[in-house]
Amino acid sequence: MMKMLRVLKGTLLVLLLPMGSAMAQNPVLCGTADVLAQMKQSDPKLDDRMRDIEAQLQRYMSYGMRSGNVITIPIVVHIIHNGDPIGSNQNITDAQVQSQIDVLNKDFRRQNADTVNTPASFLSDAADSKIEFCLAQQDPNGAATNGILRYNYNQTSYSTSYIEGTIKPATIWSRNSYLNIWVMKLADGYLGYSTFPGASANQDGVVVDHRYFGKYPLNPNNTNYSLGRTTTHEIGHWLNLLHTFNAGCGSDCATTGDRVCDTPPVSAANYGCSQSATSCGVISMVQNYMDYSDDACMNLFTKGQRDRMIATLNGTRSSLLNSIGCVPVNGPPVPDFISNSTLICPSESVQFTDMSTNGATSWSWTFSGGSPASSSIQNPVVSYNSNGIYSVTLIATNANGSQNITKSNYITVDNSGTNSPFYYSFSSGVLQPAGWSLENTDNGKTWELKSTKNASNNIAKVAYMNNHNYNSSGQEDHLTTENIDLSGLSDPVLIFNVAYAQYSSQYADGLKVSVSNDCGTTFDPHVYDKAGSALATAPNSTSEWFPMSASDWRSDTVPLSQYLNDVIQFKFTNVNGYGNNLYLDDIHVADRASMSVPCTSPTQLSVSNVQETSVVLDWEVVNGALDYTIRAKGLTETSWITIDVNSGNSYQATGLNNSMLYEWQVRSNCNAGGSNVSNYSQLDTFGLAASNCNLPSNISAVNIEADKATLQWDLNISLDEYLIHWKDSSESSWTEVTVDALYATLELETLEADTKYEWKIQSVCDEVNDITSGFSAIMDFRTQKIDSTNVGIDKIESEIMFIAFPNPVGDILNISLEQPKDELMIEIVDVAGKSVRKLSANYSNFITINMKEFSKGVYMLKLSTPNINVEEKIIKL
Ligand SMILES: [Zn+2]
Repeated sequence: MMKMLRVLKGTLLVLLLPMGSAMAQNPVLCGTADVLAQMKQSDPKLDDRMRDIEAQLQRYMSYGMRSGNVITIPIVVHIIHNGDPIGSNQNITDAQVQSQIDVLNKDFRRQNADTVNTPASFLSDAADSKIEFCLAQQDPNGAATNGILRYNYNQTSYSTSYIEGTIKPATIWSRNSYLNIWVMKLADGYLGYSTFPGASANQDGVVVDHRYFGKYPLNPNNTNYSLGRTTTHEIGHWLNLLHTFNAGCGSDCATTGDRVCDTPPVSAANYGCSQSATSCGVISMVQNYMDYSDDACMNLFTKGQRDRMIATLNGTRSSLLNSIGCVPVNGPPVPDFISNSTLICPSESVQFTDMSTNGATSWSWTFSGGSPASSSIQNPVVSYNSNGIYSVTLIATNANGSQNITKSNYITVDNSGTNSPFYYSFSSGVLQPAGWSLENTDNGKTWELKSTKNASNNIAKVAYMNNHNYNSSGQEDHLTTENIDLSGLSDPVLIFNVAYAQYSSQYADGLKVSVSNDCGTTFDPHVYDKAGSALATAPNSTSEWFPMSASDWRSDTVPLSQYLNDVIQFKFTNVNGYGNNLYLDDIHVADRASMSVPCTSPTQLSVSNVQETSVVLDWEVVNGALDYTIRAKGLTETSWITIDVNSGNSYQATGLNNSMLYEWQVRSNCNAGGSNVSNYSQLDTFGLAASNCNLPSNISAVNIEADKATLQWDLNISLDEYLIHWKDSSESSWTEVTVDALYATLELETLEADTKYEWKIQSVCDEVNDITSGFSAIMDFRTQKIDSTNVGIDKIESEIMFIAFPNPVGDILNISLEQPKDELMIEIVDVAGKSVRKLSANYSNFITINMKEFSKGVYMLKLSTPNINVEEKIIKL
């Protein structure tokens, strides 16, 4: 198992910290990352859920919807003690709890007295998060409470595994209505830790050591961490903030590091209060609550952090907005509402539904931009006529009084679209850019990003569906684009690249594309619908398939003439058939005439089957070519003769002059009209076979075993010798062997098992005068598989598919495997070849390695099973 660095406890910690130079290992003050890594081991879907939540968060922020209201979060504090009386040791006082709530309300509203210590250069970044907290006034059953609960679990301290496995599930209140905070003495040395959004429902919340909960002197411990900022920090995580030093300096501030652009990048945690610290080339914001500085040093969240927290509270944690946990029993109504849509086209209607609690008896609505502009019925329907972003206010009343709620920027009316021509490639590393959405109704496999060979033959991110491991036949997963404005296009088409292999004819999947021209309200079915062999771009594959080259991709075109001048969205729908993987990339919307993608020249020209008057000319397939024009001439002639236009990538030229040397070249034709053609390829030359020098006859490969094979032909001792070329079919260069004419066999040895080899042969009739027959056609054979029952080697497993990220890496290296492997070992080796970390990862498909204490530089990451070794270079920042 992974061994985590633990902080030393108590006063010893305080004494140790000032020593922290290159010698001392820095303590992990916050256990959030470690506990997350453990949770991911036992909960393989956690990563997917967190990715979905992040996408949802980014989408919310892309719309710039930010509620202006103060959001109040009910807190329940579970005090876990050891039988001590209240006020002694772990069994802290209510006053200590209240002091913590007071700190939170100041810190999150930027009303903390030490805002004056925020450096001038960071003042414009500092934010009032407009988040407040209360101790719960109502419990989940509607009974009165003070929000503080006490339990004797009879231990002097508690491990994270005991907390997660035993205490939390037994004590938690619904996370939909409360923020759960557990306070106790932690055995693992952390000041505290939190779950991120996406954690399981019976573990969701914040854990803080009692010595760092509340504010001194109501917290009787006087340490560097006793002003209540540990809880501020952990609630930051709970609202989806990352450490400012997460993943090192990062590259794109929005998607790497802490994914917040107004916190300066920082490569490692800051301790104490190093006001002049610099990192990643800039001054560090050591005052940020999400660093590791002393409590007295911290004093701000930034606007970017506020936006992530508010997006989280309007996204995955939005049920808290409806919680009545803060409302005293028998209070006025707590107003709230929902609507059936928040994003519509002009002139469409929205159904509002009252969600107020505590017994509202009358309602007063105000709809800016709406018709009607106000209403007193409980569940009104309102239409909107103009593009814009509009607020909604509801006042709910009962016998105890009235309360109101305003949801600012709640309804977006927008039929504008991104201008055409439109192009999106997933190589940007974003599956859902602004305005896109994902529907994954079964919460199973869905569209995600994958690094693979794309249609440009580069390794880059594309969208894909893992149908190979998705046994849910008929299930549809939808990826929907933003609005795209077709105005200005006279003959609009959708063109995208797709790559797909069936598992077999019985297990095949489908891809559909549908179009909406009413802001996503309805989608016309199927402007594109392909499945099985019609969709496939590569042969069937029972192993998990991925594109190996550009030629595994196909460009498909969908006419859009019925949507002329419309604003439209596309929905790409994968229809699962438990087949194999589907890949999607390069979504273009443009005029058909402009969409002739550059046509590239053929490469890898070669000549085979050279006869007295004919040869076979071969070249590599060019993606997008309809056909090829081949031309040739005598080496000394000046004018070319177009010898054919041919749709395949091989052509037999006949009727040639036996006495001449020729040169030839070929070009690609990428459209029917001839307006999109490539340059001619590089030249290749050939001569013909001597008229009286014949190819060997009866050529064949025999006695084929796993590691050897014999090439044979009929003996002809009138020749001087034979020339044989052979190679592994996946390689490009030939090995040349000469065999004396007294022999008619050649034994190839030390071959690879289960591998296709190619070979060709020519007769050398007169070695001195260089009279030869020309080469035979290319022959091939496949070596045998090694029998696994005999030698114990599982040849079916031939590789470990994995991604290690981020790379370069800051603190945490994540390794994601396609498939868990038995007896998998992971090792990190430094440049000197010394093993610096080795761990076993049997049957895990997601492993995290804490590289925080590693020196900067290059390492090799090695993954191995008894049969396979793979490695990848890792750069530690
Ligand atoms: Zn933390």
